[in-house]
Amino acid sequence: MQRIQIKACAKINLSLDVLRRLENRYHEVEMVMQQILLHDDVAVRWFAGEHGQNAQKEKVEIELSTNRPYLPRDERNLAYKAAMVMTDRYGGGRSGKIRIDIKKRIPVAAGLAGGSSNGAAVIHALNYLWQLGLGVKELCEVGSELGSDVPFSIMGQAKENTELGLAGDPLATHCAVARGTGTDLEPVIGLKSHLVLTKPPMGVSTAEVYQGLEIGKIERHPNTRELVTALAKKNYKIIQKNMINVLENFTLTRYPNVMYTKNKVERLFDEEAVLMSGSGPTIFALCRNRSEAQRACEELKTYNKETFWTRTTY
Ligand code: ATP
Repeated sequence: MQRIQIKACAKINLSLDVLRRLENRYHEVEMVMQQILLHDDVAVRWFAGEHGQNAQKEKVEIELSTNRPYLPRDERNLAYKAAMVMTDRYGGGRSGKIRIDIKKRIPVAAGLAGGSSNGAAVIHALNYLWQLGLGVKELCEVGSELGSDVPFSIMGQAKENTELGLAGDPLATHCAVARGTGTDLEPVIGLKSHLVLTKPPMGVSTAEVYQGLEIGKIERHPNTRELVTALAKKNYKIIQKNMINVLENFTLTRYPNVMYTKNKVERLFDEEAVLMSGSGPTIFALCRNRSEAQRACEELKTYNKETFWTRTTY
């Protein structure tokens, strides 16, 4: 039996812009995605099957367990689906069992790409355990079959999980600009910051938010170019000026709970340092140091149980 454990990190959106609606119900976006240290532990074991006459030919079994009993453990789980896609593509000639154990910490349906990070981890794990030797570009291509946030998770995990041997790959990065439907990724210099994240006790449907968005009525768009330059120069003032998420207005108006949470966080920080991630409902704030993040976390925990202090990966 061989085993690897991967840090499946969450992401936040430092900016999120929607440029237009495409014909296939997708949207053209432009956003800056940043990996953070808050992570699930995804352990993957490969039990190679017996050889010889009794062996079942070319059959790969998949088994999944998680500490969140309400999550599906079959192909509806992105980690399980990732194992299926990898088996379809690269499992030919193998027989045995893939066992996936997920210790979740990332809140579910939170705008933090928790499920996508689990799918990405399984893709990395099987590339490693089966010694496929695929680079980040090829792994991202597999990941895009699972969902639009998966390729970024693959790039981030390649950088953070150095034991995978891919940290030097040109596409391994903690931060990227995502364009197109979100899978066209350009690595950029990321943000070094402590953070507090807080999620109201509810989930938000990404599809509903995108459908409800009136693109013509968006008042403020982030300037991605300016944000990327500011990240490289570590100019926090300009970074914060461009921390804009065009989905925020819809979610805040539709869900008063999220508005309430954002107001609470804004009372503790400079308004420009506070933003909703993805389609929500998680709200995060950039903090000056660890103790500021810890203090804010204590305070916000009294409103939302799912509140964390963490930092970006860099
Ligand atoms: P994104 O930011 O990519 O939109 P999210 O953080 O909003 O993602 P997830 O935590 O990925 O949302 O969960 C969205 C849905 O995916 C949930 O309803 C959940 O049932 C399903 N799901 C499938 N696999 C997983 C997984 N491994 N972990 C969490 N959720 C999963």
